Amino acid sequence: MTEPADAETRRAVQPVICYPDDTLPRPDLARYRQHRAGMRKVSEKLVPPRDARCFDVPAGGAFRITSVEGPQVGDLNLWNADNLDERFFSGKTRALHGTHVSTGDRLWSVFPFLRPMATILEDTLDWYGIDSFGGSVHDVIGTRCDPYTNALLSGGQYHHCCHSNLTRALTNRGGLAPDVAERHVHDVLNVFMCTGFTRDTGQYFMKASPVRPGDYIEFLAEIPLLGALSACPGGDCSSEHSSDTAACYPLLVEVFAPEDKDGWSQPPVSSYDGSHGIGG
Ligand SMILES: [Zn+2]
Repeated sequence: MTEPADAETRRAVQPVICYPDDTLPRPDLARYRQHRAGMRKVSEKLVPPRDARCFDVPAGGAFRITSVEGPQVGDLNLWNADNLDERFFSGKTRALHGTHVSTGDRLWSVFPFLRPMATILEDTLDWYGIDSFGGSVHDVIGTRCDPYTNALLSGGQYHHCCHSNLTRALTNRGGLAPDVAERHVHDVLNVFMCTGFTRDTGQYFMKASPVRPGDYIEFLAEIPLLGALSACPGGDCSSEHSSDTAACYPLLVEVFAPEDKDGWSQPPVSSYDGSHGIGG
């Protein structure tokens, strides 16, 4: 197409932030950390490479994901443990907090709930910032590696993509048929993954995660959570995923609970009345 005469002027228009965060309810991190100090560890799970595990966190509890043995990326799903219909909303979390999340950011739930499910208390990779490629850590832009896209682009049947790992973990937890479990699996938080979009073509890219063994990210559970974490077959995601090629390592999930089980008040669900102007 022919450019209009004022093309450069139009390109030079300054962007505006879609969702200015000055009215976004902010967590009181000092109070959260004080609350965290009164918790004790109640369980842990070691997520094997190219596999996933589920874990439960009580409301007002916390969970920590730690890199052990070697650099490894994790794909995280979260549900309200009492109602699996309330699950993590990667897209709206991205709209509210940006493409990557760190300390003080929150993981929000889907409509009609739209409330914080978890708040990031600590992130040992928050020093990374945004690199010269536009890459950063812990993204909410990727969806999860999955066997359908792999079949589309490469053909073949690969069963250890994060989507399948999460589906298998949720099925093995019991109570859900595999096809039902699969429909509960959703877009993830890419824990420790270093990603961005290329400036010239706008393509989604990944690069070797800066994560080192001992690095961790810790979340406070705003509501009772069922979590599932997959140790991605891409390993540190420096080359490829959806195969057994990359070196992969386990990820450790530790769960902490407050001594006072009634000392936490959960955030309310959205105040929107849900009528959508129907019948009005
Ligand atoms: Zn993956």
